[in-house]
Amino acid sequence: MSIKNNIVKFSTELNLHHARLIAVSKTQPVEKIREAYEAGQRDFGENKVQEMVDKASKLPEDIRWHLIGHLQRNKVKYIAPFISLIHSVDSIRLLEEIDKQAEKQSRIIHCLLQVFIATEETKFGLDVAEVKSLIQSNQLAAFRHVTIDGLMGMASLTENRDQAAREFASLKQLFESLKASSLPPHVKMKELSMGMTSDYPQALSAGSTMVRIGTAIFGERSIVKEP
Ligand SMILES: *Cc1c(COP(=O)(O)O)cnc(C)c1O
Repeated sequence: MSIKNNIVKFSTELNLHHARLIAVSKTQPVEKIREAYEAGQRDFGENKVQEMVDKASKLPEDIRWHLIGHLQRNKVKYIAPFISLIHSVDSIRLLEEIDKQAEKQSRIIHCLLQVFIATEETKFGLDVAEVKSLIQSNQLAAFRHVTIDGLMGMASLTENRDQAAREFASLKQLFESLKASSLPPHVKMKELSMGMTSDYPQALSAGSTMVRIGTAIFGERSIVKEP
């Protein structure tokens, strides 16, 4: 299947679920992104700041760039002028830096809180208690140039689809309970970013509003050596 066909297929399927497709283009060349763009795709996800900045400079300006990987505070300034949504906010200190850089650009940067829902050990993501305390913190209340639009989560890397379904259901439950609670003005529970190539059907069933698909659109990624 061509990239174009894949985009059309996913867009149609996701529309039925009222979910949005984030085409994950990390490690893929600009030509492949252009192909997806020409098929009408506008939302693209990258996990590395430098790679996103390079690609953004070579591609049309109406692309909405989504940062889906871990973000270091010293790199926020590079994406602040153009980033559409940061899915991977996992601390108040990072949010503070995003707020500062957004103010410099005279804009508001939209963010999701990354929640840790998998069973395996990973460094990234907040637990439920941390999400609640961050949302209600006085520090967050003082920020004027960020909004929190919802939550993001990644299921365990396992073949077990039932487990992924359970993990997504737990994130959806947190999302709904926050939505029903009293939230500060710049926190809204609108977006629930969950699901990738291996588990997007389970994520959609659980109520995902954004799925992040790479391999099933662009094909396998070549292995990139970390510097
Ligand atoms: C790479 C990546 C994806 C997409 O993974 P595929 O299996 O290629 O669909 C989704 N979310 C995050 C956070 C990623 O890093």
